[in-house]
Amino acid sequence: MFEVQNQPPPLEPYNLFASDAVLRDAVQREGAGWAKAELSALGATLGSPETIKLGFDANKFAPQLRTLDRYGHRLDEVEFHPAWHELLGLAVSAGLHSSPWADPKPGAHVARAAGTFMLGQVESGVYCPVAMTYGSVPTLRHAPALAADWLPRIFSRNYDRSFRPARLKSAALVGMGMTENQGGSDLRTNTTRAEPSGDGSFRLHGHKWFMSAPMCDAFLVLAQSPKGLSCFLMPRWTPDDKRNAVQILRLKDKLGNRSNASSEVEFLGAYAQLVGEEGRGIPTIIEMGNYTRLDCCIGSSGLMRQAVAQAVHHARHRTAFQKKLIDQPLMMNVLADLALESEAATIITMRLARAYDESDEAAQVIRRMVTPAAKFWICKRTPFLTYETMEVLGGSGYIEESIMPRLYREAPVNSIWEGSGNIMCLDVLRAMERTPNATDVLRRELGDSKDARLKPFTEQLEKRLHATRERNDESQARALTRELVLALQAALLIRHAPPAVADAFCASRLGAAGGSAFGLLPQGLDLRAITERAAPAH
Ligand SMILES: Cc1cc2nc3c(=O)[nH]c(=O)nc-3n(C[C@H](O)[C@H](O)[C@H](O)COP(=O)(O)OP(=O)(O)OC[C@H]3O[C@@H](n4cnc5c(N)ncnc54)[C@H](O)[C@@H]3O)c2cc1C
Repeated sequence: MFEVQNQPPPLEPYNLFASDAVLRDAVQREGAGWAKAELSALGATLGSPETIKLGFDANKFAPQLRTLDRYGHRLDEVEFHPAWHELLGLAVSAGLHSSPWADPKPGAHVARAAGTFMLGQVESGVYCPVAMTYGSVPTLRHAPALAADWLPRIFSRNYDRSFRPARLKSAALVGMGMTENQGGSDLRTNTTRAEPSGDGSFRLHGHKWFMSAPMCDAFLVLAQSPKGLSCFLMPRWTPDDKRNAVQILRLKDKLGNRSNASSEVEFLGAYAQLVGEEGRGIPTIIEMGNYTRLDCCIGSSGLMRQAVAQAVHHARHRTAFQKKLIDQPLMMNVLADLALESEAATIITMRLARAYDESDEAAQVIRRMVTPAAKFWICKRTPFLTYETMEVLGGSGYIEESIMPRLYREAPVNSIWEGSGNIMCLDVLRAMERTPNATDVLRRELGDSKDARLKPFTEQLEKRLHATRERNDESQARALTRELVLALQAALLIRHAPPAVADAFCASRLGAAGGSAFGLLPQGLDLRAITERAAPAH
């Protein structure tokens, strides 16, 4: 038997919060310092070998659809591996699905963002129902009677996995059904019909091409009612305790996100109740969309963090050519560059989360403009980053036993889901058009920076913003959005990160070349300081 040599120890147990300097600082700075002890406890739980194994098991044993029972009665249920339930229970007990609504206080959205940032590093599938439930609350509040009925269960921290009428349960999770076969971006093409039943409720007839986490207790769905496209709450059980007429046709065979079930469904007269004004379905459900887009930023930043933590950990322990990988100058360049990307994603995400804790005009503008912008850019960068971090582990990074393939497969979904890249950039244009003080707020956010590293870039951005206002050129929306995010990330790093990080980010991201591969950082930067900052203490 050969001797096992030169293999790094697994990165476990470790505390995902305590070992992440960037996250810790951001939590404090953005107003959730009070949550540090709780976050540290969650970080330790998530980083335990037992929880890490749950993440692997939940993905190895994929959910199974059961359409019929042995006698042929409809079931339309999905069975999950116990690991899925344990992980979802862990997330719910930490309040990640609703704590800012259940217990509102300054910093509540930031604290919750930090928790979900860590959750997604261990398992991203359960993040889906957690995110949708979180996002559903402001939309549900458009229907006060429904909200009064549902919110106490949504606010509960007791995960109840049983499939039965919500009125019999102490807790509930909420999903979302918008995308149909013929179109997901252009929701006006929705064909699902909502027919009034005469008692104030509606009956839905139609389908949804994607409806994730179908074992949620209820779904916010769009359907065409007599007054136009409207938003409805469709429970899985009817008020008389019958299974609602929702047939799960099949589960999607997905690239990643495999622990989670995403389904195609048909509504055959499904019971539903109106949420918000009839005919104003898109503005009603889009409130949910803003929060789930924030969650795409959080989720993708978390994936980046996990990928970089694994890569730096590996490079610290693995030797090649008589040196630790981390001490090989070219590897250090790659690692430092990856760490920059991860830190920049985390810092803008947590800043954005603070805007959800505030209600002044500036916060509203940041939410409106920066949510789609950050979603676009962070989610676009994640697949590149997870791919490069995989390579840091060499051949072992390509093997399922490391978490790297799972991170890589997970990486693209946040960009597609909840408004794909182009849709996000077009949304940034729309927000600019409709928000008169957008440029002023952004200028303030950039800190009216005189910083020589940032100034030329922000001047160029100002020109582009101005030109965009003059002529709404959709073809340039990606370029504008990328520049907007880079400028915001640079400004945040200049203000809050060690100079080594800010210098390297500006030198590598604000120039003409930037970004075709990682590891192209120019000479003269403190790469060791950047890399050490990203190392998970273990
Ligand atoms: C794993 C997974 C889970 C999902 N879960 C859910 C769910 O629970 N509920 C739900 O409702 N949906 C869900 N979706 C669906 C998802 O939100 C949609 O796939 C997405 O919104 C895009 O819609 P589409 O697939 O119809 O693509 P299309 O709308 O056909 O778009 C295709 C491409 O064209 C681009 N495009 C569209 N319009 C324009 C334009 N005007 N200019 C330039 N480019 C444009 C888009 O950016 C996109 O890249 C899920 C998707 C995935 C992959």
